[in-house]
Amino acid sequence: MDSNILLELSNQYGCPIYVYDGNKIESQFARLSNAFAGVKHLRINYAVKALSNISILKLLKKSGSGLDTVSIQEVLLGLEAGFEPEKIMFTPNGVSMEEIEEVAKLGVHINIDNLSVLEQFGHKHPNIPVCIRINPHVMAGGNSNISVGHIDSKFGISIHQTPHILRIIENTKMTVNGIHMHTGSDILDIEVFLYASEILFETAKQFKDLEFIDFGSGFKVPYKAGDLETDIEELGEKLTTKFNAFCKDYGKELTLVFEPGKFLVSESGYFLAKVNVVKQTTSTVFAQIDSGFNHLIRPMFYNSYHHIENISNTEGKERYYSVVGYICETDTFANNRRIKEISEGDILCFRNAGAYCFSMASNYNSRYKPAEVLYYNNESYLIRKAETFKDLLKNQIIVEL
Ligand SMILES: *Cc1c(COP(=O)(O)O)cnc(C)c1O
Repeated sequence: MDSNILLELSNQYGCPIYVYDGNKIESQFARLSNAFAGVKHLRINYAVKALSNISILKLLKKSGSGLDTVSIQEVLLGLEAGFEPEKIMFTPNGVSMEEIEEVAKLGVHINIDNLSVLEQFGHKHPNIPVCIRINPHVMAGGNSNISVGHIDSKFGISIHQTPHILRIIENTKMTVNGIHMHTGSDILDIEVFLYASEILFETAKQFKDLEFIDFGSGFKVPYKAGDLETDIEELGEKLTTKFNAFCKDYGKELTLVFEPGKFLVSESGYFLAKVNVVKQTTSTVFAQIDSGFNHLIRPMFYNSYHHIENISNTEGKERYYSVVGYICETDTFANNRRIKEISEGDILCFRNAGAYCFSMASNYNSRYKPAEVLYYNNESYLIRKAETFKDLLKNQIIVEL
């Protein structure tokens, strides 16, 4: 998005603020669809946890997306956005049997990731078909927190336990209509992805009633100039060939499913914050913004890189800054970063602020969560108000002692 437009929006709506470019979300959706145009039945389920604002969900629905959800609350948000329950997949990890049954009752598709729940669910609801999350034990992903396919990962049922899964199916007479993997975020190497898919195909062969295979997500997006990203077009070409060959062997046209979060929304997001203080110390120059890890935690939590620009001064000379927040704890967004000369009151823009940014925001230091704005076809829409003091008090019960 143009920095003049972002600056205007920061004036109009106030800072700090999240802005999402709806047209970018649509173009990413189209790009992924086009890469797999050679597959007869393709389904893209947007991973709600990346960014769960209902207006964003509605926008994705307009593109033809389904949803991937990890909590009953995300399911309810999806239904609120107008998604039919059949278009929603529930892929929880470690949630209670009650929650799974409640979601199943809503008509949402269930993805089961452990043997204990599989057995209980099969005994109680043999007529509800389920999907199974497999752990193919392929190491992938950008950070140990987001890499979920390794041997001691808590996610999925190990491929080595396939005989056990088959025994449960036989005993309970339940139907498994889908098989799934999600090995982690930020997978760069297409070969790793294809290798994991081979393992999934091998496993899939052993299930007789499949309707779909879900390859999860984990596509890497660029964070700075020159960054490598998953070559979706190349992956599309190679995986399409393998998938179509598998369907031929299997004797049925299955649906290929993906459930991307980051790929669809990361680059659409801009976080805008105002510089409160420029502080020169003996070793560095700090630019302190009116925000902190209460609004954007990824740099501190995952060591993620977010490109930062000074949109109030796009012409000046560059200097080195440490960009930090106002939280009473170390909250460094960027160290020693070259940014156009910063003055107090300038607006800094953080890129790649669409995925896992607002959705991870908190009220730490009793600060308000910021507003969200959708910019779509040259119009801006406020899609969430900034919180006020009322919101902080909302659920508190004040006792007189
Ligand atoms: C988080 C998650 C995704 C989305 O991952 P991205 O890296 O954002 O694309 C997909 N599937 C499952 C099961 C997830 O937990």
